[in-house]
Amino acid sequence: MLDSNVEGVEQSVSTGSLPGWEQVDSLVVASHTRNRACQDGAVADYIPVLAQADPELFGVCVVEVDGGVHLAGDADVEFSIQSISKAFVYALVCEEFGHAAVADLVGVNNTGLAFNSVIAIELNDGHPMNPMVNAGALATTALMPGATPDEQWNAIRKGLSAFAGRELELDQEVYRSEAATNTRNRAIARLLESYGRINRDPLEAVDVYTKQCSLRVSARDLAIMGATLADGGVNPVTGQSVVSAEVCRDTLAILAANGLYERSGEWLFEIGLPGKSGVSGGLLTVSPGKAGIGAFSPRLDPAGNSVRGQQATAYLSRVLGLNIFASQAYAPSERSTNVH
Ligand code: GLU
Repeated sequence: MLDSNVEGVEQSVSTGSLPGWEQVDSLVVASHTRNRACQDGAVADYIPVLAQADPELFGVCVVEVDGGVHLAGDADVEFSIQSISKAFVYALVCEEFGHAAVADLVGVNNTGLAFNSVIAIELNDGHPMNPMVNAGALATTALMPGATPDEQWNAIRKGLSAFAGRELELDQEVYRSEAATNTRNRAIARLLESYGRINRDPLEAVDVYTKQCSLRVSARDLAIMGATLADGGVNPVTGQSVVSAEVCRDTLAILAANGLYERSGEWLFEIGLPGKSGVSGGLLTVSPGKAGIGAFSPRLDPAGNSVRGQQATAYLSRVLGLNIFASQAYAPSERSTNVH
């Protein structure tokens, strides 16, 4: 790991504020209207039940850190959370074991390869590389506290429900469909076991992971979950403190580097925010200190990211001034005359 040499240095945060409520409300509606007609991309079909998703569904939701909610389109339609669960299970495990231990065990760097790549594991001497690819997610899920797989699953469901501020349910149909076809994930878990990178029965870890991917959420839930990560770990709707501010910071850094599969660099370049997508069409984006954005539209780009979800979020990032890399030149008349 990089030695950042900031141990004991007091941390300040970089925030800012959103435009007024009415303006955000109309811009969320505009993000939906201007992208509604787009038909690009294809619905995932490698998990059989996902192929049945209605490709026309499209919802957007922004939840501000003060708890204000802005909705457009099918923001309350439920779908399986899929890979977006990885972000929150990582946060729960990081809360338990801390920054350094998880970074060491699971890693934080992008593989540049597909989310279910076996070659990436082999190229890195069995290291899973980061918790957003399946290898790292399986290793992370295996770290969840609990004496049995059931206890681990209950802790995951409870934790993700706290992020969402409501009891999330397992989609049995999605779970059964994925459990019957996830041979590749089972192979990845076995491979990790052979490298001593998984501390539980590998197939039990795959089963818990498959359940976590099958939790039902809506775009509104994703926005609330994202707003919790934007709000130092406090759910802005329920007021519950779910994880620490440090864990949110670590999770968002991992999302910035790895959240949109092998297109994470392009995403950061265009949108400038940490995000996480899933193959059922969900997309979660976080503007630290400001808001969470949830989007849902099942048609995906070749890497597995929701096409309209990315478009709506790109628009919101621009018009709401969310890109964390954007700045404007300081007004010359206000420049300091102090001599340094
Ligand atoms: N459950 C899916 C899998 O493991 C998640 C994939 C995703 O959303 O990226 O294949």
